[in-house]
Amino acid sequence: PRRTTREWQAADAAHFLHPFTDHQALASRGVRVITRGEGIYVWDSEGHRILDAMSGLWCVNVGYGQPALVEAAARQMTQLPYYNAFFQTTTPVAVALAEKLAALAPEGFQHVFFTNSGSEANDTNLRLVRRYWDLLGQPERRVVISRENAYHGSTLAAASLGGMPDMHAQGGLPIPGIVHVGQPHQWAHRDGAARGLDADAFGRLAAQWLEDKILALGPKTVAAFIAEPVQGAGGVIVPPASYWPEVQRICDRYDILLISDEVICGFGRTGRWWGCETVGSRPDLMTFAKGVTSGYVPLGGVMVGERVARVLIERGGEFEHGFTYSGHPVACAVALANLALIEELDLVRRVREDTGPWLAERLATLRDHPLVGDVQSCGLMAAVQLAREPRTGAAFDPAHAVGMACRRHCFDGGLVMRAVGDRMIVAPPLVITRAEIDEMVGLVRQALDRTLEEARAAGWV
Ligand code: PMP
Repeated sequence: PRRTTREWQAADAAHFLHPFTDHQALASRGVRVITRGEGIYVWDSEGHRILDAMSGLWCVNVGYGQPALVEAAARQMTQLPYYNAFFQTTTPVAVALAEKLAALAPEGFQHVFFTNSGSEANDTNLRLVRRYWDLLGQPERRVVISRENAYHGSTLAAASLGGMPDMHAQGGLPIPGIVHVGQPHQWAHRDGAARGLDADAFGRLAAQWLEDKILALGPKTVAAFIAEPVQGAGGVIVPPASYWPEVQRICDRYDILLISDEVICGFGRTGRWWGCETVGSRPDLMTFAKGVTSGYVPLGGVMVGERVARVLIERGGEFEHGFTYSGHPVACAVALANLALIEELDLVRRVREDTGPWLAERLATLRDHPLVGDVQSCGLMAAVQLAREPRTGAAFDPAHAVGMACRRHCFDGGLVMRAVGDRMIVAPPLVITRAEIDEMVGLVRQALDRTLEEARAAGWV
């Protein structure tokens, strides 16, 4: 239906309960209505072009308007829109995707369990690790360790795996059996644990927090450790190089399963197919989701390494778990087209050798800005850390307000960025070019300038 922006906004306010949204704050500004996309840009209902530096929500890796994905969906819809994968049936397209994912995955991954989303995939992980240890006769291995300020999804279990205090404050999370350790976030710890440490020493210290927690719980009670290779949700926290080798050594020493949440890092964002390949970890299970279809249709899953798969298949009997849409044919068809396009456009290598380093170089030019305390990036995921006093790292109080102001100035200037407190995040579609990166970083600087003006007027600096 054709409506004015105001009419869309009124209908939205009347009926749509949005995810992760303060509706009263939204009402005062009005929701922005996004109507179409092409490449790295989307357009709103007023005809404004917006550079999407968040790839939708870390998903649209191949960019908007790719006909190959649309055609794959239409073909599959026509031929067989749905069939289940329960009991004793399968579909060629789901088999082909499982085969393709196994070929793309690091050595030792031959199986995949399909879900609809990353949240469901992490729920599935929890059930898989419990089942694994039960089948091995070690049911006392129940605890899953995650990290503070992590995000692993929004179901009860996935939100518990996450470590976001605001989420945990609502509804009494986490559920029992999930505990959290500190994240390797040197900036956040600069006045505390990280004071006086170089990156290498801090990385080892952060890994030590994991070992301390395992020892405090008793190693025989711990089932698994879950983490993103580079923490995207939570603010693009790039760990020091010493962190992952230490974490891997600790997981090996205590025989603890490692779950790599690749929902953001997977499919090229870090410059390798999987984030674990960039950081050098060797997970037993890998969560994937939106990037597998570039967000065109919902699909998620768990890559199950042979250590777990063999126990499940050979000793398990029936695994009492699954979804109506596990292996949905249309989603699988789009995923195959998406993966083929990533290969055809050589996006993973481009991120590693061209656009990733270019983004890092261009963002580094922001370091001279009076609001910028730090810049971190890995491939095409990056954070610009705001600070009230960049030289000393003095933080804004409240941090949230300056981040929200900066996000608003970005949005008004035609750029979608995310604010995690006072940390500004970019993660553009992997098809972004050098020229488009220049444009994006120019828009970031413009937004920083406006934020600085507002911060001065408001007395924040
Ligand atoms: N894990 C990570 C690292 C994520 O970023 C997300 C979503 N942003 C999820 C899990 C949950 O995925 P979904 O929203 O598809 O449930």
